[in-house]
Amino acid sequence: MSTVSVRHLDKIYRGNTHILKDLNLDIGSGEFLVLLGPSGCGKSTLLNCIAGLMDVEGGRIEIAGRDVTNADPSERGIAMVFQSYALYPTKTVYGNMAFCLRMKKKSPAEIERKVNDTADLLQIRELLHRKPGTLSGGQRQRAAIGRALVRDADICLFDEPLSNLDAKLRTEMRIELKKLHKKLRSTFVYVTHDQVEAMTLATRVAVMEGGTFSQISTPEDLYDRPANTFVARFIGSPPMNFVHGEVMLEGGVHVQTPDGVSFAVGAYPFTTPPRRGQEVIVGIRPEHFHLPIPGEVTYPTTLTLVEPLGATVMCYCTLGHTDIVASLSPSDITGARSDAPLPLGIDLSKVSLFDRTSGLRL
Ligand code: ADP
Repeated sequence: MSTVSVRHLDKIYRGNTHILKDLNLDIGSGEFLVLLGPSGCGKSTLLNCIAGLMDVEGGRIEIAGRDVTNADPSERGIAMVFQSYALYPTKTVYGNMAFCLRMKKKSPAEIERKVNDTADLLQIRELLHRKPGTLSGGQRQRAAIGRALVRDADICLFDEPLSNLDAKLRTEMRIELKKLHKKLRSTFVYVTHDQVEAMTLATRVAVMEGGTFSQISTPEDLYDRPANTFVARFIGSPPMNFVHGEVMLEGGVHVQTPDGVSFAVGAYPFTTPPRRGQEVIVGIRPEHFHLPIPGEVTYPTTLTLVEPLGATVMCYCTLGHTDIVASLSPSDITGARSDAPLPLGIDLSKVSLFDRTSGLRL
């Protein structure tokens, strides 16, 4: 049974802006489900609808099998962590964490035990007597997470909780959150526009675009088998290379570019048979280029710029008239010169093919 079930959800803001369009989503117990997408695609709106902070215009939301579409946030069994922390400034961390337990009329002894246990879990015991204004960004975020977790909610909702932290702290907190989820095994629903955060934290990612789901799957599946060109370009950095071409069926299935570059894709697992002359996009991840081994088909690329990243080098090249990026190892390009040919091999078993008109995976 899913813990959160969203059915045909519609959200229309005043002024007739249709933000969420017929959304369907099932979140299993113990999942770390990340809502990922560019700014403005409706992630926070969906999270707020699940939390009950916003009314919906159509559809149904169930939590633990119960219809909560019109229920008050306090009746939904959820806890929420906001990007802005939203801590009470006049209360200590202890006071912030204890507040909802006091509202629920828990005994002082139980409140003390729960706050202390949660503070231990988040390693913020020594901060309990301090007020939010005296804490660093990272400490405030821990306190905000503590305040959510102390409620023992089955479902925790996170709205971009790390985006106010600097890059180093964000990475540290990301690892902490992952450990926390492993330990607690509660259901986390997490909004971010950062694909690295999504890919590293999630058990499943729901990629959103313009108020709809583009693809909902595991991080590995999104990366290896993106359902469309939007997901293909949004996930992965540098993004997947796109090379345009036309399907040819003579002498085996291949894709030919206007420059005459040919990709033999006979072994590709097409879901529908390719048509002669069909306009397609060949999607190649940067790491699926390599220096050719003897006897292998080579692609006539020309090196334009090298970006050393330590363990790898990003090689900006042209393949015909298409700009591409290949991720190679530093030793691969010893002696390579800009504007000189750098023929490369491609692992064709890893490429993705998309219909150019619909953008959908073939
Ligand atoms: P995201 O979280 O993906 O960045 P949001 O859910 O915050 O996106 O917003 C989705 C869209 O809805 C945006 O275009 C935003 O401007 C609009 N929007 C958000 N809140 C309101 C509101 N209260 N009234 C009208 N439009 C809103």
